[in-house]
Parts: sequence; structure tokens; C-alpha cells
Amino acid sequence: MTERVNTLKTFFEEARAGRLTGIRCARCGGLSLPPKEFCPVCQQRQWEPVPLSGSGTVSSFTVIRIPPRGRLPEAPYAVAVVKLDEGVSLLGRVVGVPLETLKTGLPVKFRALLSENETGIGFGPA
Ligand SMILES: [Zn+2]
Repeated sequence: MTERVNTLKTFFEEARAGRLTGIRCARCGGLSLPPKEFCPVCQQRQWEPVPLSGSGTVSSFTVIRIPPRGRLPEAPYAVAVVKLDEGVSLLGRVVGVPLETLKTGLPVKFRALLSENETGIGFGPA
């Protein structure tokens, strides 16, 4: 459990600084993002952090028109599954891309979404 907490902490601390970090299994080399407790491939827990480019393309997206409580002023907005250049996919909020121009295959780049007490994963124009 301790390892998992530390890995998540690293992930969000790095994200806050604008750097996207994946974790790589030291045993089989599999990448995991966002961090999981055990490697889905070999079931080991020997993670090491790896810096990611943050660049990728939109593989699917959803436009949120009725947002969770508290986010009403921000709607509509899109969340997208982005396939990073390193081959892993990550869900993030789309920022700085007009919804009508958003499409699958669109190149995007990681953006840290900072608010008072949370760090969100965002993707903006590449
Ligand atoms: Zn593994």
C-alpha cells in the first residue's frame, strides 16, 4: 500500500509541475498509467517512474453537457481518451480546443489543470 501511495503522490506532484509521469514495471517493462497497485501484466509491484512526453492523439472523446455538481459554469466541456506517443492511454479534460474542431486523431499535449486543492489531467492543442 505504501508504494502505491508514493507512486500516486509522485504522479500528481509531477503533474502539478507540468510533467506527465508514467510508471514502468521494473520486472517486465510494462507501462502503467494512471498508476496501478500491481502490474497488470506480471502482477508484480516493482514500479519505477518514467517521464512521458505528454504528446499524443485523441482516440475518443465525450462532450459533457450536464456536469457533476459544482462544475456547472464550465459546461459544456469535453473529456478525451488520449493515446500517448509511448503507447499508453489516459483520460483527461480537453482545454483550449473548440468543441466543434475536436475529433479523433487530433494531436494534443498534456496540460496540468490546477485548482486550489486538486491537480487534474488536461489536454490542449499540441
Ligand atoms: Zn510487470
